[in-house]
Amino acid sequence: MILGNCLILKDFSSEPFFGVLEVENGIIKRVSHGRESNIDLDLSGKMIMPALFNTHTHAPMALLRGIAEDLTFEDWLFSKILPVEERLTEKMIYYGTILAQMEMARHGTGGFVDMYFYEEWVAKAVRDFGMRVLLTRGLVDNQGDDGGRLDENLKLYHKWNGFENRIFVGFGPHSPYLCSKSYLKRVFDTAKSLNVPVTIHLYENPKESYDLKELLNLGMKDVRTIAAHCVHLPEQYFNELKDLAFFVSHNPTSNLKLGNGIAPIKKMLESGIKVTVGTDGAASNNSLNLFFEMRLASLLQKVSDPRAMSVETCLRMVTTEGAEAMGIKSGRLEEGWNADLVVIDLKSPSFFPEKHLKNHIVHAFSGEVFATMVSGKWIYYDGSYPTIDEHEVVKELRRIEKELYS
Ligand SMILES: [Zn+2]
Repeated sequence: MILGNCLILKDFSSEPFFGVLEVENGIIKRVSHGRESNIDLDLSGKMIMPALFNTHTHAPMALLRGIAEDLTFEDWLFSKILPVEERLTEKMIYYGTILAQMEMARHGTGGFVDMYFYEEWVAKAVRDFGMRVLLTRGLVDNQGDDGGRLDENLKLYHKWNGFENRIFVGFGPHSPYLCSKSYLKRVFDTAKSLNVPVTIHLYENPKESYDLKELLNLGMKDVRTIAAHCVHLPEQYFNELKDLAFFVSHNPTSNLKLGNGIAPIKKMLESGIKVTVGTDGAASNNSLNLFFEMRLASLLQKVSDPRAMSVETCLRMVTTEGAEAMGIKSGRLEEGWNADLVVIDLKSPSFFPEKHLKNHIVHAFSGEVFATMVSGKWIYYDGSYPTIDEHEVVKELRRIEKELYS
């Protein structure tokens, strides 16, 4: 498929140019400058850029959007979220993940990192919808007894890892406060032996206190780690973390909404730590719009220093850095890279004047894209979802809402 005759933004550091892009078997075969007459899809008036990658969410929580507002973290979790989660069924997890992907694809996201339960059904929903994912089973233990969760995560790995080069499986120890040290060591050892990443909630709340050095020595330093939140990550370790395969997943909305604070992203970036962006689940955001998340990330750092986060840094965090954290060759539109891209309609007033498009994407764009492609297939195109029966999905979601909340 050859598409284009439009602007193309190859990556965060380049400027858009007029050209075409050829896709074959899910991979970008060619990116060329200039107009061509023999193409399959004319995208005049639009711009193609790399898809975005959301490095921390709990996709099925799209079903829990807006059910708990204006509460302390403890009340939010124990009185509102957990009672509903206890009622979730496998089928609900499936449709909740379809719903989350519909929202993410509509806002230019091509892949995400997930941590939840019944992940088998998250996998099925991703298989059917078409996004990329790094799946992890949320792992907690009580004095070493994890109720079979690690085995479940392993089964998930053997069944799904590498599926269509879209679905990958890592391990998801929930946090150092819900996992014992010996259990964390077991999880890190397992991840290391399979050469897969780990994702964990780290230093989210100011009350969390544990020794990062100890965590690193339990095995975190030996595996690719996607650490969500890191609002209170101790600064004395920044220098050490920059040399590891350690990726912060910055979740600014969730951190603000649950009163957890503002992560010192400017200092992390200056230290050379790799920073990506995540939305967290829709129960604490409440949106899965990564463009919005990127802008908020930037504004929060600029509050005392307008130079704190450049437009290019913002774009890098949600494209190449996010993809690298997930371990996939996406985030850049170049020959040999995954055909994971979004098309943005430039006729919105937010894109005038037309000269500084990258600035508009970060600071003016609503996030609603024209189309999103993953692995060479459209998963969202001009208001519709080519891979699913939207009418049926909405019917199921209404049925689920009744079952969950009435
Ligand atoms: Zn989370």
